[in-house]
Amino acid sequence: MAEFKTDIQIAQEAEEEGYPIAKVADELGLARESLVPYGYDKAKVDVSDLAQRPRKAKLVLVTAISPTPAGEGKTTTSVGLADALNRIGKKCVLCLREPSLGPVFGVKGGAAGGGHAQVIPMEDINLHFTGDFHAIGAANNLLAAMVDNHVKQGNELNIDPRRITWHRVVDMNDRQLRNVVDGLGGVANGTVREDHYDITVASEVMAVFCLATSLADLKCRLGRMVVGYTYDRMPVTAHDLHAEGAMTALLKDALAPNLVQTLEHNPALVHGGPFANIAHGCNSVMATDAALRLGDYVVTEAGFGADLGAEKFCDITCRMAGLAPDACVVVATVRALKHHGGVARADLGTENLEALERGLPNLLQHVDTMRSVYGLPVVVAVNAFPTDTPAELALVEDKCRALGVNVALSEVWAKGSEGGGALAREVVRLCDEPSDFRYAYELGSLKEELEFVARRVYRADGVSYTSAAERQIAQLEEQGFTNLPVCIAKTQYSFTDDQTKLGAPTGFAITVRSVRVSAGAGFVVALTGDIMTMPGLPRHPAAESIDVDEDGRITGLF
Ligand code: ADP
Ligand code: MG
Repeated sequence: MAEFKTDIQIAQEAEEEGYPIAKVADELGLARESLVPYGYDKAKVDVSDLAQRPRKAKLVLVTAISPTPAGEGKTTTSVGLADALNRIGKKCVLCLREPSLGPVFGVKGGAAGGGHAQVIPMEDINLHFTGDFHAIGAANNLLAAMVDNHVKQGNELNIDPRRITWHRVVDMNDRQLRNVVDGLGGVANGTVREDHYDITVASEVMAVFCLATSLADLKCRLGRMVVGYTYDRMPVTAHDLHAEGAMTALLKDALAPNLVQTLEHNPALVHGGPFANIAHGCNSVMATDAALRLGDYVVTEAGFGADLGAEKFCDITCRMAGLAPDACVVVATVRALKHHGGVARADLGTENLEALERGLPNLLQHVDTMRSVYGLPVVVAVNAFPTDTPAELALVEDKCRALGVNVALSEVWAKGSEGGGALAREVVRLCDEPSDFRYAYELGSLKEELEFVARRVYRADGVSYTSAAERQIAQLEEQGFTNLPVCIAKTQYSFTDDQTKLGAPTGFAITVRSVRVSAGAGFVVALTGDIMTMPGLPRHPAAESIDVDEDGRITGLF
């Protein structure tokens, strides 16, 4: 097989050529006064003047089949589609999440696309960027400090230290911090208690940041966040601690979307990055809203497969932010389809048409959900890998067409926009079709909402609850947390809550193990298994191969 350049090599070649962000902004029609440059090739966008413009663009949601652990190329396809739309003369703005440092140094590497479909400067985007995640971590940890300080200073609010639910955060995969005892050292040094760290992207502040529609909305949401419970089990909020003003002050600049460019100099807003299990998994509403006012087409990615990311984008983000997608792209890969057809990870590079066909029902279920549950026109993007054989690619296309599913081969990883022509033209066609967007459920009782998602999106027979979950649901209702959408935390590898059940299983139920409110974000999180909110590093973390040479050039980010 031919040698390929690495992602970082391709990105650095483009970065060396140099294309100022001010020029990208000019071409986008942004006033210079609205641009807050962070050096030569990054900027924050002051969106205050955009409110006068209508939200006129078509919104394209990129989602995927149930992924393999390596990811199926949603970001890569999103970048390539945005470039391909611009190439055929459509003014398209891309919206993506910001990468977290955890996966960059862990297993996955960077999250700025791949091959010839990337956003740049990729090193900066993957490492610190404009500091948004640090601001989010600081705001989160300020609140944590204020909670413990309140307890130490006399505890007027009667907070039960054993029922403090607010965790500290750091943007790193650091399993050592999952469970800690802090406040040691005697009376002068705080109150001894068991404490926990999450990765920053799992923080409710991140979810709030990404759902906020303005500074004022951000402050209200932060104030509503529950930090723990009193000895009488009443919720205590950030507002009770008078924390939301200072937290908003820390987040004020971060809330402005970041403008960068693709390898082909098209505009990309990369902003916010919540988990797609315990949170809603898409870039900030601030960014999507700005993009809809600036472009004619907006491409945005939702995390994990369509059962998680797209479900939450539609049922949570769109409902809260008043958005409605016009079309949906479901990314599929030959290797993931073979995986769903029973092929072990090590053998995914070998042609296997039977397994490929056996894996197709996973894709078809996601497509059907986006069409029949959410009412969206759908196209499958087959993200072509160098290991795919012509026979395999043809099989996926033929089977989809035979079943009346729109499909386009995407070669953006290998060829950039040139490889995305068919996909872009199909997306334009679908955006002109009448769409009949609707949610999977109307707001109501939590159990009803869960039933709707489980039955309609996962195709489960129903939902069962542990006794702990039953008790927690009753408590939340008592405390008045009703009529909120549900945010279901489930494995991304299966439609079920068992990650080993691949394909499109039937005859299963989902078990809700615990339930908690994210009152600031405005949803109730239902956990169907153990969801890791502080990941660990693998035996050989990617960090071992990352380096910088004497000229400051970074290597080993992939
Ligand atoms: P997702 O957004 O679905 O998690 P990404 O777009 O981040 O996936 O891609 C995951 C990894 O796979 C990246 O390292 C990317 O470079 C690589 N990748 C994506 N598409 C292709 C492709 N068509 N061929 C080879 N590698 C690819
Ligand atoms: Mg991605």
